[in-house]
Amino acid sequence: MIIDCHGHYTTAPGELQKFRDAQIAGLKDSSLAAPSDKLNISDDQIRASLEGAQLKLQRERGTDLTIFSPRASAMAHHIGNEATSLKWTRICNDLIHRVCTLYPENFVGVCQLPQSPGVAPVNSSAELERCVKELGFIGCNLNPDPSGGHWNSPPLTDRHWYPLYEKMVELDVPAMVHVSSSCNPNFHATGAHYINADTTAFMQFLTSDLFNDFPTLRFIIPHGGGAVPFHWGRYRGLAQDLKRPPLEELLLKNVFLDTCVYHLPGIELLTKVIPIDNILFGSEMVGAVRGIDPRTGHYYDDTKRYIDALPLSAADKKKIFEDNARRVYPRLANKLDAVKAAKR
Ligand SMILES: [Zn+2]
Repeated sequence: MIIDCHGHYTTAPGELQKFRDAQIAGLKDSSLAAPSDKLNISDDQIRASLEGAQLKLQRERGTDLTIFSPRASAMAHHIGNEATSLKWTRICNDLIHRVCTLYPENFVGVCQLPQSPGVAPVNSSAELERCVKELGFIGCNLNPDPSGGHWNSPPLTDRHWYPLYEKMVELDVPAMVHVSSSCNPNFHATGAHYINADTTAFMQFLTSDLFNDFPTLRFIIPHGGGAVPFHWGRYRGLAQDLKRPPLEELLLKNVFLDTCVYHLPGIELLTKVIPIDNILFGSEMVGAVRGIDPRTGHYYDDTKRYIDALPLSAADKKKIFEDNARRVYPRLANKLDAVKAAKR
């Protein structure tokens, strides 16, 4: 089985964005506020939005299941206040739930959190619990920078975040560390802000004792871990200089990287320096880079091709494609069993 741990609903019907536009307009002029919290989107519209995109690409590329979440760049936690974020988040998560209900063999849900700058992360716990317990989601996306590029929240390792981690541990769900759009013109969202955040989160974990406090807490750092694999020697050396334990001991039981790296040499490096047990297959399709590489004739984000081309054992490839995801997302097993039982 091939599990893609990183997919977003980037092709949602236009009504979703219309709701968001109205919500944002309503922040400036309350007479323009969105009239309803209910989205007027039919099941057929949802099917049409996926059939020619994510589902078609799953079939063409030979992947089975996508761990699916709302469009990350649209989370935009910096817009409005906590109530704005909560309303938008619930609407996005409910839509993911409808996708997963229509296509239980193809998608399993991961939620957006209703974060907001300056608001305690524990305030996201109720929505996380709703998504896991009521909607059957298996994880969340956690934005380390709800300000959208100004980085004025405490580091992920600060006690500020601990009450939310307690809820994650209680529910036994991991978080993908995932920023959203950037409102700081210095940082292009997908080209700089995302990759900076991945690298930043890793270094925060390296300098802290977070995983002593939460031995079972798990994070996926997406986009291949940002700059981390390329600079693995720097991080090993920094840990050594800082008198930290070796990285295997310090964080590799808790931190995992995906394979959203869009060329073969990058994936080769990733799998050479990061233990195979810490790598989860991901493509982030349809997402950050949508074109075809003229040098290969294939989509940049068809990351399965790169892994297929590696000289790894079948057992190692199975770890990347399936086993590691099952370990990091323990709730996945129940979902897959339920799908199997429904087919019988
Ligand atoms: Zn993403």
